[in-house]
Amino acid sequence: MNQLFVVGIGPGDYLKMTQEAVRILEACDTIVGYTVYVDLIREYFPGREYIVTGMRREEERCRMALESAASGKRTAVVCSGDAGVYGMAGLLLELGQAFPAVEITVAAGVTAALSGGAVLGAPLGHDFAVISLSDLLTPWEQIARRLQAAAQADFCICLYNPSSRKRQDYLKRACEILMQYRKPDTVCGYVRSIGREGESSTLLPLSGLAEAAVDMFTTVFIGNSQTERIGGYMVTPRGYPLHDQGGEVVLSGGEDRCKWRKE
Ligand code: SAH
Repeated sequence: MNQLFVVGIGPGDYLKMTQEAVRILEACDTIVGYTVYVDLIREYFPGREYIVTGMRREEERCRMALESAASGKRTAVVCSGDAGVYGMAGLLLELGQAFPAVEITVAAGVTAALSGGAVLGAPLGHDFAVISLSDLLTPWEQIARRLQAAAQADFCICLYNPSSRKRQDYLKRACEILMQYRKPDTVCGYVRSIGREGESSTLLPLSGLAEAAVDMFTTVFIGNSQTERIGGYMVTPRGYPLHDQGGEVVLSGGEDRCKWRKE
């Protein structure tokens, strides 16, 4: 059987790629992906054939990958984060129906909600909803309805695709909906370039989120009514009953997060 792997490579840092993803890519002849993601991994998997396409060329990329696998090459399609979360796993499985001789295997990756959540602390410690603000494939009315429902139900909310050059006011529009149901001091945060050079994170109240400088490399977190700021961390309590121990949380932000690597 011809093999096609759909691999989530995590946010970008090689250390955040699963061992399964690394083993699969090591065993592949051909790696297919969007330019930006391929550039993140190329140095770790030299000597492979790379098929690289630009943004918005998803269907073409999937067909090329399926054809490569059908021709007998062990092929992997790489996506950032997890390939099933606003990624290409679904499209490949749909198009794969026309390639019965190709067996498709999906390998999970660390999605931005989780890698970004770890940067902020523990913002998703209770029920949460993930919503993309991109209206390229989803009508804005539907996005707005989901934002409203998640806000009303007091879910923590993680927003993907919060902004792009053409959609600069989408986060603002989302905030207008969220503010109808959540207090202005609801703890929020956003993380830019998770696991990549220049990673940065910010905590702020919901009242300030509409004006935050976010872009397409940012993931946004909106706390629920219980979410707290503990030192520099954003924490949504799981609900464990606590006994007062005094003391203070020691912060480790920015560069310090990688201290263990040097030790
Ligand atoms: N499959 C990806 C999501 C693709 S949608 C995943 O599972 O993570 C693209 C959106 O994901 C971006 O607009 C951003 O909101 C988020 N994202 C992906 N990688 C990111 C990173 N390294 N840093 C910050 N946000 C990221």
